[in-house]
Amino acid sequence: MRMTNQRKLILELLNKSHQPKSAEMIIEELPNHTMNLSTVYRNLDAFFADGIVSKSTMKNTAYYYVNHKDHHHYMICLSCQKMYEIDCHLDDFAHDIALKHHFKITHHDMTIYGYCEHCQSTL
Ligand SMILES: [Zn+2]
Ligand SMILES: [Zn+2]
Repeated sequence: MRMTNQRKLILELLNKSHQPKSAEMIIEELPNHTMNLSTVYRNLDAFFADGIVSKSTMKNTAYYYVNHKDHHHYMICLSCQKMYEIDCHLDDFAHDIALKHHFKITHHDMTIYGYCEHCQSTL
């Protein structure tokens, strides 16, 4: 992938972030007029296709986060949208399945959705 200045900006922002960000959140944090929303989306899609970022979707909004070496996943409350970082336990499992099907894995994705302790009591 060609690393344009726009892509560097978006990636730096996601790298610094402690939680997944939507395209709207990203554009708000970029210096004014750096790029428009559709450009942010286009670049995020390119990152996603290349396995550089993962995404979780909540209420029709996609939240993106970087696939670090210390790769992890998120568990998200559908009510208050609190995000919990969780360890990945999928690698061995994915590796076994890939061997069985002669599949070459580039990356994987997993998000757990539900209700946090607080929101369960208000359901
Ligand atoms: Zn909650
Ligand atoms: Zn994982």
